[in-house]
Amino acid sequence: MVNAPAFKDYISKPRKAVIITHFKPDADALGSSLGLAGYLRKLGHQTTVVTPSDYPEFLHWMPGNNEVVIYSKDKPAAAVSALNEAEIIFCVDFSSLQRVNELGQIVAKSNAKKVLIDHHLEPEDFAEFVQWDTTAASTAELVYLLIRQLGDEALIDADIANCLYAGLMTDTGSFRHPNTTRQVFEVAAALVAKGADPAKVAKLVYDTNTIERLRLLGFVLSERLQILPEYRTAYIVLSPEDLKKFGSQTGDTEGLVNYGLSIKNIRLSVMISDRRDNIKLSFRSLGDFSVNDLARKHFEGGGHKNAAGGQTTLTLDQTVKKFLDLLPDYKSSLISEA
Ligand code: 5GP
Ligand code: MN
Repeated sequence: MVNAPAFKDYISKPRKAVIITHFKPDADALGSSLGLAGYLRKLGHQTTVVTPSDYPEFLHWMPGNNEVVIYSKDKPAAAVSALNEAEIIFCVDFSSLQRVNELGQIVAKSNAKKVLIDHHLEPEDFAEFVQWDTTAASTAELVYLLIRQLGDEALIDADIANCLYAGLMTDTGSFRHPNTTRQVFEVAAALVAKGADPAKVAKLVYDTNTIERLRLLGFVLSERLQILPEYRTAYIVLSPEDLKKFGSQTGDTEGLVNYGLSIKNIRLSVMISDRRDNIKLSFRSLGDFSVNDLARKHFEGGGHKNAAGGQTTLTLDQTVKKFLDLLPDYKSSLISEA
């Protein structure tokens, strides 16, 4: 961490701490936050985890879940007062304040010390303390390394280890993506030594589907997945009616975009879903094609080179057209690699 001694000094006294994740936190965002919360509580800090929105039910098993303060527009008070009272705010698994929506302004204006713990590309500069590394596969890894750097590895218990392990497992696509480095396995092994249970975490995250979610998957694969071989691109468009038909809950569409990339010769996969408030795009790519660049340039988003997201306030049809109209500009880079 940049500024580690000053950070250590600052947290040597009990503080009011808030940990905040990005909107619609995934397993890495929530697992990193709850793992970090478990650690900070052991150090004696009064610690509140705030999420800018709800999150999938398959994350509710995480120890500390019951204490999470979920911000919503109709019930903003608890999250806002936690942030206003905080002496230190940890921003976990995101590095652009836009990703916490309205809460971003409160974080930006707060006098609290800010800590950024993240692995996304092109971070904003708003934090005093920064644990940022784009070569880390997951933020969970960075939380583990921070705890170790502070000399507190002994404080990691099975609950903390399971939360962090979940982030490591999901952000590497279960240890399959190219970000699966030697460090990933070293941290995973260290977490298992602390009591993380890989089979249990995998079951809780991946194999607790509802039948509706599996039916949605079947529908998407048979009715909504399109391919454009000339652009080596796959895409899925989901309307509000599609989502409603399968009683879609937060998290039900997570992972669908990856199926496009599992097709031979496909290098770019996109899912465009109409969330009524806005249109959400999810991008995945192989090799050097940067979906971070694509999302940043055209869809108010960003992320990593091979996994990114974005949004528009256009209609669903306009968004699909915008995406399809961009493809000719990217054709040469899409078809260049083997
Ligand atoms: P997903 O497609 O799973 O929602 O997100 C893929 C990656 O892109 C994740 O690392 C996620 O944090 C990031 N991401 C998703 N949506 C956005 C967005 O709107 N803006 C930015 N900057 N990153 C995003
Ligand atoms: Mn992450």
